[in-house]
Amino acid sequence: MSELSGKVQTVLGVMDPRRLGRTLTHEHLTMSFAFCYTPPPPGQEACSEMPMTMNNLYWLKQNPYSHRANLLLNEEVEAVKGELLHFKEVGGGTIVENTTTGICRDVKALRRLSEETGVHIIAGAGFYVAETHSSETRSTSVEKLTDILVNEILHGADGTDIKCGVIGEIGCSWPMTESEQKVLQATAEAQTQLGCPVIIHPGRNSDSPFHIIRILQEAGADISKTVMSHLDRTILERDKLLEFAKLGSYLEYDLFGMELLNYAFCPVVDMPCDIERINWVRFLTDEGYGDNLLMAHDIHTKNRLTKYGGHGFSHILTNIVPKMKQRGIPQSAIDKILVENPKRWLTFK
Ligand SMILES: [Zn+2]
Repeated sequence: MSELSGKVQTVLGVMDPRRLGRTLTHEHLTMSFAFCYTPPPPGQEACSEMPMTMNNLYWLKQNPYSHRANLLLNEEVEAVKGELLHFKEVGGGTIVENTTTGICRDVKALRRLSEETGVHIIAGAGFYVAETHSSETRSTSVEKLTDILVNEILHGADGTDIKCGVIGEIGCSWPMTESEQKVLQATAEAQTQLGCPVIIHPGRNSDSPFHIIRILQEAGADISKTVMSHLDRTILERDKLLEFAKLGSYLEYDLFGMELLNYAFCPVVDMPCDIERINWVRFLTDEGYGDNLLMAHDIHTKNRLTKYGGHGFSHILTNIVPKMKQRGIPQSAIDKILVENPKRWLTFK
């Protein structure tokens, strides 16, 4: 077992897990999603270059991936700093910033944000989806990929001494590519060595989370220390969700604040609204999975920042928690989701 055992690791160093406080387990404070640019609907092509003003905020909310500048969250570090100060003011403690290699991870910016705001930030090791893998990553062996992950946690990421405290989000597509499968196997191997938390971005198909867990299990991963992200857009059928919950991973509802008619990346999916997300969380709590639930916003575009009329990083604490209580979810269940479960997950074995 590593010297990290019983601790969490933030961008400022090793820390006692009891200091984490209320934790959002899947966010991005600085990243680029430019590779995901999707052309606007026919006849609206000009919208992709228009300035971000009050007049087009609703269009941006409905078409977040069809506006080039909107995909560059890394241009808004100052606005994000203001958001973090507010997050802290309303009782927030920690943000898991799971931007990985391929979408412009910037651990130096994360360290600065943590120093200047007092919010604990935990950075993510590893690789996003295959579309962002370099040719070098694609041709690297599982063994070497494992070394890269271990190094990002033990020694530092991107040539710095700033260390990651979690592996992920590890990107998976549907169908999964060969290099994604290798990264998953390396993730399992690194987790076995370090006893570290892992977080996965599944492909946009309800079979993807099952497939991923199988690969991780076969490679020896600890599923009870693994988070399956984005369930809100991935498993929309109750029986299938319960079948997945039995596999024992953490179950994350992490697109709070994202409400749109058309989900450009997967048009067959009806993206749930926040009330429906709360109902899913309540359903899983009632079914006995309260110890597995996690929540976040997964902010990854500019329009979701308050600077651009969005809900911001405090949305869950200021708007969603009161609504959960109003709908009969007890405070003890909410504390598990925001404090106890993240703490257990993030603590190294
Ligand atoms: Zn994400």
